[in-house]
Amino acid sequence: MKTIQVDPGRPDPAAIQQAAALLRAGGLVAFPTETVYGLGANALDPEAVARIYAAKRRPSYNPLIVHVPDAAAAQALAADWPAHAAACAAAFWPGPLTLVVAKHARVPDAVTAGLSRVALRVPAHPVAQALLRAAELPVAAPSANRSSELSPTLARHVEKSLEAAVDLILDAGPASVGIESTVIDLSGSAPILLRPGSIPQMALERVLGPVSLPGSAGKPGEARPSPGMLDRHYAPRAELRLFTPCGVLDVRPDYTVGALLLTTQVMAQFPVRMPADPDGYAQRLYAELHRLDDAGCDLILVERVADTPEWAGVRDRLERAARRG
Ligand code: AMP
Ligand code: MG
Repeated sequence: MKTIQVDPGRPDPAAIQQAAALLRAGGLVAFPTETVYGLGANALDPEAVARIYAAKRRPSYNPLIVHVPDAAAAQALAADWPAHAAACAAAFWPGPLTLVVAKHARVPDAVTAGLSRVALRVPAHPVAQALLRAAELPVAAPSANRSSELSPTLARHVEKSLEAAVDLILDAGPASVGIESTVIDLSGSAPILLRPGSIPQMALERVLGPVSLPGSAGKPGEARPSPGMLDRHYAPRAELRLFTPCGVLDVRPDYTVGALLLTTQVMAQFPVRMPADPDGYAQRLYAELHRLDDAGCDLILVERVADTPEWAGVRDRLERAARRG
């Protein structure tokens, strides 16, 4: 494994060419996107894709998001490009939105875990853009971490989690969004929000009309669950416990405790005051959880965030991280 520093705004063409050549040769390249660092491989090469699953120890039922440089390249991987997809592409791409649409036959089953739909995204990060254009390939890229663990927002997090499994890491500093993309399924009769992210549901609804949540979706029998979104996920090594101010906190006295706080204080060796706005909070969330894990915390107490739509992305990650087993 090798890490190369690149300027986030104007990446060195030689570094990009090296990374692109590795992708074309079937290798694994970790690269920055605006959401989190991705672990990329040639999406059209089932063997390269299999390497992603092995490196992450990702369950084979959990499909991958395919990254492309623009909407035309996305459309080329879809069997059907509904008006909703074109509208979302125009409004939100490049950016932290993933669209699930019917897949074209040229997308291997290995990428979609056998599903007839494919998840597509056009990232905005200049390094991701440069790499996708240089590779001239669609790049399957889940977050560059062991499955179920914390996502990486720094190259150092990738090194910590994946070590020798990666051929090259492009290090462009911290990811600006900090949580994974919003995922919306446009393959059925009505749009379904599969994973909340930094794009609020209301912004999607301005473009798409009503958007439903999985479970509450569409006609009976038409619900399209997103595999891999049900499990414990995005979790630190330490136990993560959500709490509401004024509640009773029962903490083992021998525990090393970290805390992510908004309005209140608790007894903790490592208290962290988090930004009060959802974008600022999201940007710092994983980096703080990585830091508290590295500090040896047994328990991380997290003050619950507001139960409002703009906090949905952060709330989703915290609730999954708090889930046991
Ligand atoms: P990750 O790339 O690890 O942040 O996760 C990608 C997420 O997108 C996973 O939770 C998948 O379940 C979801 N996803 C990817 N492809 C599809 C698909 N074809 N249909 C539904 N969900 C998908
Ligand atoms: Mg992930």
